[in-house]
Order: sequence, then C-alpha cells, then structure tokens
Amino acid sequence: MSESASKRILMVEDEEDIAFLIRYMLERHGFVVDHEADGRQALEYFAQGKPPDLTLMDIMLPYHDGLELIERLRAQPGWDSVPVLMLTAKAREVDIVRALELGADDYVTKPFQPEELLARIRRLLRSRR
Ligand code: CA
Repeated sequence: MSESASKRILMVEDEEDIAFLIRYMLERHGFVVDHEADGRQALEYFAQGKPPDLTLMDIMLPYHDGLELIERLRAQPGWDSVPVLMLTAKAREVDIVRALELGADDYVTKPFQPEELLARIRRLLRSRR
C-alpha cells in the first residue's frame, strides 16, 4: 500500500488527453481521482461534494475560469485548507500571480513532466494544515 492510498484528488481539466494522462498516473500511484471537465461541473462539485485531499486546477476552462474557481473554492465551508495546485499554460505569469493571490498553493506549467506533478502533489499533501 502506498502513502497515497485513499487520498482523493479533484482534477478540473477540460483537455481530454491531459486529463487522461493525469488520471492514469495518479491512479497508478494509488490516488482516487474525481474529474470535472469545465467550470460549471466544478462549481457543482464544490457545492455538493465533501472537500478532496487536493485539487488540480486548470486555468483556461469553459464557463468559469480557474481563477474564479479558486476564489469560489476557498469560499466553500471546509475547503479553506484544501491544497490547490494550478495547471497553467506557458507564458501566463499574470494568471500565476493572480491565482497565488487568490489562494492557490503551487503551480506546474504545461507541458509538465509527470514526475514533477507527482512530486508537487506529494509535497502539498505532506504540508497540508
Ligand atoms: Ca484548459
């Protein structure tokens, strides 16, 4: 049994190939993955679901972008300490700064190495308040 067993990760990502790869990698390492493919679905998840152990948040999304979603996530009762790791496109420094201000904990830039994403997830899970 790995250290990640039973940890639940919410992934908000609209690009199917990226979502597939992330899910494949995380499940291989023992994580449970809940996938929401756009901003509307993500808001429904916030409203109905109990907080995950960590959230992976794409920035460019249909209906509501990742920046708005981070703000909304942080406003949910019980979600204030959920680690949020952003998935950003290259050369979007403005988004990165804004997202960190809104409460994101870290980010990776696409295209990212799977091992880097995994390392950052593990670090955030260790440092969870
Ligand atoms: Ca996207």
